[in-house]
Amino acid sequence: MSDQKRFVDPGTHLSDLATHFVVCCPKCKGRALINPYENTWRLACTKCFHVEEPGHWYGHLTAYVSVKCRECHHPLTRNTAVDGQWKKLKLKCPHCGDETEYTAHLSRHSMHHGLMTDPVFGLPLWLQKSFGQDLFWAYHYEHLSLLEQYVKAKLRERSIIARGSKNSLMFSRLPAFIRKAGHRVELLKLIKELQIKTL
Ligand SMILES: [Zn+2]
Ligand SMILES: [Zn+2]
Repeated sequence: MSDQKRFVDPGTHLSDLATHFVVCCPKCKGRALINPYENTWRLACTKCFHVEEPGHWYGHLTAYVSVKCRECHHPLTRNTAVDGQWKKLKLKCPHCGDETEYTAHLSRHSMHHGLMTDPVFGLPLWLQKSFGQDLFWAYHYEHLSLLEQYVKAKLRERSIIARGSKNSLMFSRLPAFIRKAGHRVELLKLIKELQIKTL
């Protein structure tokens, strides 16, 4: 077997790939880039030139409260999707009727309306497309090329020097539909479409 048909998993973690992101601009839906910028991140749209620094979370956010009523100590819990950076949730006690706002624990989620989002702004990734019931996605073009190499390879090997636990290896955690050899041709077509995607 020739060398280019071999694919050696370099032991890449998904977090190693979270160095920059290509997303849909929150203003114009065009292609925007999120890159490291002075100890934080900065989004810059290639289409409308919108620039934004982290602060607003556009993605799926849920707020969770589990407390005892301040009046009668009846246990109260609520878990709900919220907008923006809302840190308080109003709860009405079913026991004594007292109603007040309690501080909530906020959780950010990676999926929003069925799309994968970036971890900085929660914006939909630019490089994603559904594949049957599944979703194929990449953080950026280099990530997409790595997936392309993986899909192209006839022989997949896990690096001998595996880093961390087996489960943390990106390639061993890839969804089954990407690992399935029978999907190779269709997946390579999809990857090509994403590589040339422009708005
Ligand atoms: Zn834009
Ligand atoms: Zn109460």
